[in-house]
Amino acid sequence: MPGGVNSPVRAFKGVGGTPLFFESADGARMVDVDGHEFIDFVGSWGVMLLGHNHPGIVEAVSEALVRGTSFGAPAPGEVDLAERVIELVRGVEVVRMVNSGTEATMSAIRLARAATGRTVLIKFRGGYHGHGDAFLVDAGSGAATLGVPSSPGVPDSLAAQTLVADYNDLDSVAELFHGAEDRVAAVIVEPVAGNMGCVPPVPGFLQGLRDLCDRYGSLLIFDEVMTGFRVSAGCAQEKYGVLPDLTTLGKVIGGGLPVGAYGGRENLMRQIAPDGPVYQAGTLSGNPLAVAAGSAALSYIQAHPEIYAELESLGQGLGDGLLEIGSELGIPLTWNQSGAMGSLFFGPGPVNDWRSVERTETARFAPFFHEMLTREVYLPPSPYEAWFWSTAHDHDAVGKTLEAARDSLKAALDHG
Ligand code: PLP
Repeated sequence: MPGGVNSPVRAFKGVGGTPLFFESADGARMVDVDGHEFIDFVGSWGVMLLGHNHPGIVEAVSEALVRGTSFGAPAPGEVDLAERVIELVRGVEVVRMVNSGTEATMSAIRLARAATGRTVLIKFRGGYHGHGDAFLVDAGSGAATLGVPSSPGVPDSLAAQTLVADYNDLDSVAELFHGAEDRVAAVIVEPVAGNMGCVPPVPGFLQGLRDLCDRYGSLLIFDEVMTGFRVSAGCAQEKYGVLPDLTTLGKVIGGGLPVGAYGGRENLMRQIAPDGPVYQAGTLSGNPLAVAAGSAALSYIQAHPEIYAELESLGQGLGDGLLEIGSELGIPLTWNQSGAMGSLFFGPGPVNDWRSVERTETARFAPFFHEMLTREVYLPPSPYEAWFWSTAHDHDAVGKTLEAARDSLKAALDHG
């Protein structure tokens, strides 16, 4: 396997050293093959909102398993998940299931281009929307970690169709619109940026995007693969009160199994085959095990709306604690958070776009990461990733994490 892994950031290139191999996980904790137990803030990169091994999900998948692992034909489970998504996400009237976030975003821009008859796409510096060719231009996440924000193999002619603006900077978007007149099919944005570390939208930014898209006849795509069901039950579009034309989903929607989805206004989504001519298909899309896990996750969310306030306040406790330790030790830190995702940046804030992320002292992250690992806290192995916590994380886990952070920051200071 390239780098010994099946997805680049897992290889620890951003922090050095050798990745751990994990054998099992339960609640907020994961156990590696050597038997060490870690408090997990990766959460399978944002998937595990309800923690590992959630009993409702385990039961749903076990029940589905004995009924058959794949039919390649319609089944009630997919309808159940589709209905839950439509109930929860206001911007989604019709939805198509796929197998990953990447598939969801690739399909959404095909639809946007078809529906508008235009080709240009506007994305944001440090934004990551999966590994589709159109998105690997100034991309965040693993691409930024590895220093290859724009990938070889993406044809220049295609990359030229992707324009890059600055997140939280409406003027930079307006400027691109002025230059591209009526050629912009869509603006795609992580409504809370999560792939340059967590960077929430400044007030007015998302609404400003909505207004620009309306003025120029372009579609607004919220890539909610990371934020979906994580920052709020109704996703970022509910939390920040701005409706996109199309929404892409992944991670939490699959309850730990591979599910992605894209959806939006009915008149747009009916252009997808077989209702319309825009082709998109998948052998395993709507897989019965995957949708059973997803439905179990979303049904828990629907039955327990109170979890979001708890997740938010748990994260605030973590952030406040980290900042307090930083000021005790004389280390300027910044904590950004939205719902159940957040990031610690080394350096003074505000951190509200890719340039301010780059200005932070990212080199201080690697020693901190390794010190935390020795104290059995598993953080995302890159300064450009958000931390994720779950309903299984409690005050005890946060307390242990803060203890580890105090000792780790001290140790990292001592080692210069
Ligand atoms: N969009 C966003 C915002 C993401 O964070 C990711 C993955 O991290 C993707 C799309 C791609 O999803 P996947 O890795 O499931 O293909």
